[in-house]
Amino acid sequence: MAGLYFHIPFCKRICSYCDFFRVARLDLLSDCLLAMHSELDEQRNFLYDKKIDTIYFGGGTPSLVAPNQLQMLIDHAAQIFDCGSVGEVTIEANPDDINDGWIEQLRTTAINRVSLGVQSFDDAELKFMNRRHTGREAEAAVMRLQDAGIENITIDLIFGVDGFGEEVLSQNIERALSLGVPHISAYHLTIEPNTAFGRRLVRGEMCEISESQSEIEYAMLHQRLTAAGFEHYEVSNYALEGYRAKHNSSYWQGVEYLGIGAGAHSFNGVERHYSEQGIEEYIGGREYIVEQLTPRDHYNEYVMTALRCKEGIDCRKVADNFGEKVLRRVKECVAPWIDSGDVVVADGSIKIPTARFMISDAVIESLFEV
Ligand code: SF4
Repeated sequence: MAGLYFHIPFCKRICSYCDFFRVARLDLLSDCLLAMHSELDEQRNFLYDKKIDTIYFGGGTPSLVAPNQLQMLIDHAAQIFDCGSVGEVTIEANPDDINDGWIEQLRTTAINRVSLGVQSFDDAELKFMNRRHTGREAEAAVMRLQDAGIENITIDLIFGVDGFGEEVLSQNIERALSLGVPHISAYHLTIEPNTAFGRRLVRGEMCEISESQSEIEYAMLHQRLTAAGFEHYEVSNYALEGYRAKHNSSYWQGVEYLGIGAGAHSFNGVERHYSEQGIEEYIGGREYIVEQLTPRDHYNEYVMTALRCKEGIDCRKVADNFGEKVLRRVKECVAPWIDSGDVVVADGSIKIPTARFMISDAVIESLFEV
């Protein structure tokens, strides 16, 4: 099984926190789509005949592209790969792109899950982040999708924003829950250097929130969402039963994937490749940076993804894939975390209790092989 990811790198407006690969050159969209079709052909052998079971349109802003053009990419992929068992097909969308015409077209495609970039329902916070929509528009977008029978919706929220503390977060959670969506992703704001927030930070015009404030907000999300019946199954992800994100979960389980589009990454179990080309260079011809993964890379990657998930590290898997010696080292390294209650060992697995996911980076780092 494998995943197929299409990266649509176009945005109408650049959000203050964003350091994803994205461009505002909408005039290049058609040429970019043509290049993506070419790349699909060029990469036909990358996954060694693996069956595709999830497809994901991410960005950027895939909802800027007419759904029937996205369907053309799906159809093309189905000519190249075995897509007979594809279940989940997700599109990331911005709330202000969701109108009746777009939904009508979406319903004629294989796309069956919508990931809405809501980030906040608070208009002041949305403006601070330079988002294109208001809180009301975000709510209306969800309801429009639901009215059209699209109920597999996930929304993204951002927390940990300087100047917008627990009260705003509490209202955001309330409004998210009242919409009845089955999946919520909640990301702590990280301020990256090459962003508007990064420049403001350097100029002293904004701060990163304190660690204690981060913990308060993280705990609030965990408590409120789990109390509402959501399973906290990954550091930033909450789902009602049966609604875990299948495509993203496959990344965390080390499943192979092919990424198509400028800036997309691919992994086939042996190597990873990605492009650092700008959009115009990508359109002109694809060039990749290829990384061969060493056993140490595989181990570090496994530890990093496994400990961010509820299931944790499978001790048997570590012994089988990396050796008994590595497993012994893992057990020695986690001993202090077990003593402090930040890690538990149960059913042959080493895991971080979901309420303590906040400290996962520190635990992961202590287990890395350098
Ligand atoms: S819409 Fe998404 S990809 Fe585009 S600038 Fe905003 S956060 Fe970045």
